Amino acid sequence: MKDLSQDVENLRDEMIVFLTEMCRIPAIAPDSGGTGEAERASFIMMKLALMGFDNVKLIEAPDKRVPGGTRPNIIVTVPGKNRKLPPVWIVTHMDIVPEGDRSLWKTDPFDPVLKKDRLFGRGVEDNGQSLTASIFAAKAVMDSREGQSRDVKLAIVSDEEVGSKYGIQYLISKGLFGKDDLILVPDAGSPDGSKIEVVEKSHLQLKVITHGKQAHASRPDKGTNAFLAASKFVARISDELYREYHLQDRLFDPPFSTFECTKKEPNVPNVNTIPGEDIFHMDCRVLPEIDLDEVMRTIRKVAKEIEKETGAKISFENVRKGKAPKATPVDSPIVKNLQKALKDVRGTHAKPMGIGGGTCAACFREKGLPAAVWETNDELAHEPNEYCKISNMVGDAKVMARLFQL
Ligand SMILES: [Zn+2]
Repeated sequence: MKDLSQDVENLRDEMIVFLTEMCRIPAIAPDSGGTGEAERASFIMMKLALMGFDNVKLIEAPDKRVPGGTRPNIIVTVPGKNRKLPPVWIVTHMDIVPEGDRSLWKTDPFDPVLKKDRLFGRGVEDNGQSLTASIFAAKAVMDSREGQSRDVKLAIVSDEEVGSKYGIQYLISKGLFGKDDLILVPDAGSPDGSKIEVVEKSHLQLKVITHGKQAHASRPDKGTNAFLAASKFVARISDELYREYHLQDRLFDPPFSTFECTKKEPNVPNVNTIPGEDIFHMDCRVLPEIDLDEVMRTIRKVAKEIEKETGAKISFENVRKGKAPKATPVDSPIVKNLQKALKDVRGTHAKPMGIGGGTCAACFREKGLPAAVWETNDELAHEPNEYCKISNMVGDAKVMARLFQL
């Protein structure tokens, strides 16, 4: 085991180069204004071939919206000595979210910069860190003299950030995973790597459209300001939801439900027009004990109040409800083996728990496939100046390599 950790350690520089080069290639879903993951996938496939992986498959999900017409998913297999044992999977995603407000970045989000132990750039942590760690952990095991008994499998998927339809859900629908497989999704974690996520919150997303009446800015008497009405709604809905659904559950971090108004779409292009329409989005992560339909009823009730007060009309579109699937049992083989790997490599005892989530793991759990979520990170996903700690990436790769051997 010591040797294996050393083998991973020796790959540190190569890992930094891989992650840096990969993150220069954006991989943004068409839903978020990007052209998909094809270019990044080609880079990864080329690297895998150079590293000596000879069992690499590309599984493409048709999607007419992107150039080339498909969304790539990469499956890597390192055969084990006992092929009767269920395989151990590490599932990571190659797609990223856009950089957001560019002015908040201190470095170019698409040209990663290394400062001491930190590499800064969009997607370096989410999910570049673990994607890289899993590939190099697999390489260390593949090149080691003792090898491993199980098949080691990596799934490097598309489309995780906007629903996984062309990514992990597509692979699951193709029957790639068995119910006895050990599945690790390293896509959320904590700074000390002591949390193993086995359950997620329910997820509610919606688009809120406020309809008013457009008018010249000097004549509010002739119009209804949709932006103003929407702002009143935003302020009230946040208060109301957090007050109404204040239930706490210590299994989760944070231990309460969250209800956030997030993306704001542009309204009028000029300063001297009162907007007649305003659009924003909400993202709610709700404890499994709370009924999402109930939450939706509260949202509609508050909308009615605002309509009455302002004369605007509020409607909802793209309401996406994801009820939290059943938790992965805390004594399932993936949780047990991961705990053992962490104990062996770091001497730590990791605890199963729940998070706000929305990772690939929920797709597995929905189909009754037990999956665990774990990694070591500073929780910077989707933030400006996102960084990956190199020590976390290399340290996690050592744990993954150990997991492959169990
Ligand atoms: Zn992610």
